[in-house]
Amino acid sequence: MRIALLPGDGIGPEVVAEARRVLEALGLPLSFEEALVGGAAYKATGHPLPPATLAVARASDALLFGAVGDPDCDALDRHLRPEQAILGLRRELGLFANLRPARLYPELADASALRPEIATRIDMVIVRELTGDVYFGEKGIRTTPSGLRQGYDVMAYDEGEVRRIAKVGFETARARSRRLCSVDKANVLETSQLWRDVMIEEAAHYPDVELSHMYVDNAAMQLVRNPGQFDVIVTGNLFGDILSDQASMCAGSIGMLPSASLDAAGKGLYEPIHGSAPDIAGKGKANPLATILSAAMMLRYSLGQPEAADRVEAAVAQALAGGARSPDLGGARSTREMGDAVLAVLQAAIV
Ligand code: NAD
Repeated sequence: MRIALLPGDGIGPEVVAEARRVLEALGLPLSFEEALVGGAAYKATGHPLPPATLAVARASDALLFGAVGDPDCDALDRHLRPEQAILGLRRELGLFANLRPARLYPELADASALRPEIATRIDMVIVRELTGDVYFGEKGIRTTPSGLRQGYDVMAYDEGEVRRIAKVGFETARARSRRLCSVDKANVLETSQLWRDVMIEEAAHYPDVELSHMYVDNAAMQLVRNPGQFDVIVTGNLFGDILSDQASMCAGSIGMLPSASLDAAGKGLYEPIHGSAPDIAGKGKANPLATILSAAMMLRYSLGQPEAADRVEAAVAQALAGGARSPDLGGARSTREMGDAVLAVLQAAIV
């Protein structure tokens, strides 16, 4: 199984190195190829996503990505900025489904923005459509007949786009507790009405999954009021962008949260949700657990190794239960020591 490692900028290389050590400890036939991406790639080649990196990405079974973003590159033309690399990879690899688990480890209940008794019930996955919606529709700034500047962005989904993300939502729900909540704004938006109609049509293929619907404004409220009611949420690009960030902060530190972006065949790019954190880069202060948990998702969703994924996730939980805390979690362990704590559990074979 070929894994492309794209460490990127800032803390990216530090956290990816720890995830690699964990993957190597599993005793699986994994091979790794590393490639430059983001600001590091721009500085070496003049482009944040050079052809050589794209070739490595295409030839792999899955990609483990660190983060991109470099203050030195902030003045570059938009198409050369490090962050464009991630958009380019999504586009070139057809990564249309974003999966973001939000789970609060009981030991970290204090890190949530919510009261501990509410926060500890959070264990959900948000499935967000990634390549359509208002971000990709016709857009511009025009002048109205009365001479006012007017900005516009067209929201549109065709039924094929909705159907393929619906399938990811139903399959994800099937692998968990068989409950899927589709979030839309069908009381106001035609795009959402079509979304809802197609979700209901697709539900006929998944009689074992219970489908419910919720308006996005209510979903935002329920995520804070009673997040324990959700298991799998499926939603469009705009609503998913906002709700997944909201759910993340309910679930604790940014250094703990993994994500996956998948194509139609299950190949995926796996990355922590955080950025390159230039403020702590090179200081050994970054929490590598989000990247280690991203590697676990990779084992589960792209490499067909659910047991290895369970072992890694259990090792992270045990390391936390044993007191491993990086500075973002209120402790003093370095990036390397956090990796060591997970490896120690794995190597003791007690998970
Ligand atoms: P950020 O996520 O990099 O950092 C926000 C805050 O969280 C910082 O204080 C940082 O120190 C802390 N933090 C982040 N990850 C951490 C970790 N693993 N352990 C401990 N603390 C952690 O967001 P930002 O500061 O807004 O952005 C910095 C750069 O990252 C920008 O160039 C931005 O464009 C880029 N960015 C990239 C991605 C990506 O690669 N997918 C995502 C978000 C931001």
